[in-house]
Amino acid sequence: MTFEDVVELSKRRGFFWPSYSIYGGSSGFYDYGPLGSVMKDNIINAWKRAYAAEGAVFVDTPVISPGEVFRASGHLEKFSDIAVKCSNCKTAYKFESLLKNLDIKEMAENTDQADSILLKYRIKCPKCGSPLNNSYNFNLMFRIENEFLYLRPETAQGIFVNFKNLLNYSRSVLPLIVCQVGKGFRNEISPRQALIRMREFTQAEVEVFYDNADSFSPDSIKNGPALNLLRNNGESLNISAFEALSSGVVNSPAMAYFINKTFMFLSSLGLDPAAIRAREHSPEERAHYSSETWDFEFFMDSEWIEIVGISDRNSYDLSRHRDASGQDMSVNGSIPHVIEPSHGVDRIFLSIMNGCYYRRENGYKVLKLRPEISPVHFAVFPLQRKDGLDSTARDMFTALKAIDPFIFYDESGTIGRRYARQDEIGTSFCITVDYQTRDDGTVTVRERDSSKQKRVDFRVLLEMARNYPASFTALFVE
Ligand code: AMP
Repeated sequence: MTFEDVVELSKRRGFFWPSYSIYGGSSGFYDYGPLGSVMKDNIINAWKRAYAAEGAVFVDTPVISPGEVFRASGHLEKFSDIAVKCSNCKTAYKFESLLKNLDIKEMAENTDQADSILLKYRIKCPKCGSPLNNSYNFNLMFRIENEFLYLRPETAQGIFVNFKNLLNYSRSVLPLIVCQVGKGFRNEISPRQALIRMREFTQAEVEVFYDNADSFSPDSIKNGPALNLLRNNGESLNISAFEALSSGVVNSPAMAYFINKTFMFLSSLGLDPAAIRAREHSPEERAHYSSETWDFEFFMDSEWIEIVGISDRNSYDLSRHRDASGQDMSVNGSIPHVIEPSHGVDRIFLSIMNGCYYRRENGYKVLKLRPEISPVHFAVFPLQRKDGLDSTARDMFTALKAIDPFIFYDESGTIGRRYARQDEIGTSFCITVDYQTRDDGTVTVRERDSSKQKRVDFRVLLEMARNYPASFTALFVE
């Protein structure tokens, strides 16, 4: 299915849509609808579980921060994109995107270099055709008017400024893994492609503080899966994170550990491992705080899109906050090292929608969501809206809903249409009450992907509902 198909489905069935549409919309803002908001929570919960299993702790800090925080972190000075504004039609472009769209394989580290590239290739405004010149630095942070306050561009700083409190909480034991999920804000020059580049988006960030290179033992990832790696010298590899570490492709055991972890996490969400790759940043591309970065990208809409960035932030942030605040940030005499896997929740969401949407041979559309991610766990239907099947189905639905509230009831249209409506939103299982139910108290359970049906006693189904999805999945294991 195409990217447009995903956007169309999302709007029609209530996954996401552009915000403020009754006022003509506002670029870079999206709402999650009734199904999307539940599915987004399911993704976040899967991430929380994956990191809680690592012994991580979680925090929730303000989205508005004093400017001092971002002066210390370097964001005030360096968190900017190079932009170009057409002097004729006034359209502003992100310089990097301009080059990408023209397939120009150059990179500018500053505005002087950008100006030379504009001149060299005689780049014109894609909208009105006027020559483009005079690039400038555009800081991506939103400032609160008349105050020295900013909307945070990343959730990470809320963790760094709390390092002493967190150390106290964890009794100074390292490694310490701290996570935060929440909104980040960036005044993107050219928001695009639905959830891919927004001005307000959700990050799920992990800051791993450690002081010992052996904290993340390579042995623990020895049997990890092979994955696609693209090095910054252009070399493509399909090796495990362990092999990448052993052969010097990845610099540290901690980086290798979290590359393996991120790959396993993304695969567990139902993303096709073959459509995932980890791409190494070149030194010029790396953020100001990073000494090694690997982006996890997903192939969608015929391009690779970054969905998770793993950066080695070294002791950069803690040292800067120590210098700016005068507070001690050391543990056992030295400042801990930090590895940061930073997840873009919205982009992961969109990747799942793209990767899971397909058309069956009979033409019906299916969203092949994993049961853990589906916003609707299962749907209940009467075969017919007569002969008491509907009242039995409604009673059963009420009993099931008391156990699992994320279920749906539908009695309108043919049974085939009802299955199709659920398939399209990713519901993994449908329960149908039919004439046999009246005789023996059994119902059918239909699995979305195989369309297979099993008969189950309703009393057994009540127990299964307590143990969703494992109990349902087990029913269809041959
Ligand atoms: P970064 O700090 O730029 O590495 O961002 C971390 C993650 O946040 C990226 O891997 C993206 O998935 C996501 N992200 C960054 N900027 C945006 C944006 N403007 N809209 C949506 N997601 C974003």
